[in-house]
Amino acid sequence: MTWTPDQPIVSLKDVHKSFGPTEVLRGVSLDVMKGEVICIIGPSGSGKSTLIRCINALNDIQKGSITVEGLEVNDPQLDKLALRKKVGMVFQQYNLFPHKTALQNVMMAPIKVLRQNRADVEARARKLIAKVRLEGKEDAYPGELSGGQQQRVAIARSLAMNPDVMLFDEVTAALDPETVKEVLTTIKDLAADGMTCILVTHEMGFAREIADCIYFTDRGVIVESGPPATFFDNAQDPRTQQFLSQIL
Ligand code: ADP
Ligand code: MG
Repeated sequence: MTWTPDQPIVSLKDVHKSFGPTEVLRGVSLDVMKGEVICIIGPSGSGKSTLIRCINALNDIQKGSITVEGLEVNDPQLDKLALRKKVGMVFQQYNLFPHKTALQNVMMAPIKVLRQNRADVEARARKLIAKVRLEGKEDAYPGELSGGQQQRVAIARSLAMNPDVMLFDEVTAALDPETVKEVLTTIKDLAADGMTCILVTHEMGFAREIADCIYFTDRGVIVESGPPATFFDNAQDPRTQQFLSQIL
């Protein structure tokens, strides 16, 4: 089946995921349209990381289906490289190569994985570094950068594969408070450019501002979802209300 932009770019249908006997996702369905930004929030251990790792085939699933641009993520015949080109992911731990500069970190995947021409890759990498507002830091090593700057290099590194969808898993959770904002600004820039983004975040103000739709997860199910205004001001489910009352 060929994907067209009027269909969800990411679609999960009744996804079940277990680790051994423990069912961690218990029938999750959600659709994301091209250019949409969704935020997944919920208590620790509710399955948020597992959910977005499944979208990127870092976790397999036991039941249901996940497609990205029509590509069946759980097809045993899946072309992993095709998926890697469509979906970028950024984690809490940015894990840059410490002995490579910011520029070299951003250039690595297109050269090693996609075998693209070095000069083209470098030109694009420089643009991406400017896009994440790190112009002038091209030759800095990760150890010379703040946590927020390193995370922005990690975002640029992910963008270097030219993905259509970006997954962010609590990318500011390990940062010093003063560098959180610059990373959130980078994500806002991306979203404003039309990038489809799926974010797990504890930054509620940010989620309210940026999301088209918020999903609240608890114990492996989506309990409630809706646009931020409805979600934050008029949550219906007691589990959502309790969670929000603890953090807002
Ligand atoms: P969240 O991101 O919402 O905090 P996770 O998706 O990380 O939640 O975890 C959901 C549940 O799955 C937790 O109970 C966690 O212990 C369990 N879990 C996550 N990854 C693994 C794994 N690789 N092996 C076994 N259990 C796991
Ligand atoms: Mg998590």
